[in-house]
Amino acid sequence: MRNSPVLEKIKQEGYKLTDPRRRLAEVLEATERHCTIEEIYDLVNSQGFLISQATVYRNVRLFEELNLLVKIDLGDGLDRYELKTTEDNHHHHHHMICNYCKSVKEVHGDFLDKLEAELEDKYDFKIQDHNLIFYGICSECKKRMEKNE
Ligand SMILES: [Zn+2]
Ligand SMILES: [Zn+2]
Ligand SMILES: [Zn+2]
Repeated sequence: MRNSPVLEKIKQEGYKLTDPRRRLAEVLEATERHCTIEEIYDLVNSQGFLISQATVYRNVRLFEELNLLVKIDLGDGLDRYELKTTEDNHHHHHHMICNYCKSVKEVHGDFLDKLEAELEDKYDFKIQDHNLIFYGICSECKKRMEKNE
């Protein structure tokens, strides 16, 4: 069997590795996008598989319950999901969104620990999470703009 951390975890938690779960794990591990549940459904079925919407939705919820998928907010009002990359409960990356092509790039590392500690001290507020998105112009769009000048 293909080495898949997602499938390992599902098995560990005592769930069966059904075809839809394998398929879902496979597409999620292959995609670099931050997908809505509709996009996940399309990806799962993109190679002629016929897995019902209800099954896909149910398994997305299961993956979420098992802490394999996390819901993220990229500021567009849609619920998007991405695979959780660490065991740790704190996320370890942020997103840069291009204002022109809307592409999403990941920034690895969380740089806010120091800031959070300062805020906690200053306001006596226990910070549990934060939401940070960088907006700007991606390198492809920058190149395209320079060419068109
Ligand atoms: Zn762009
Ligand atoms: Zn991400
Ligand atoms: Zn962060």
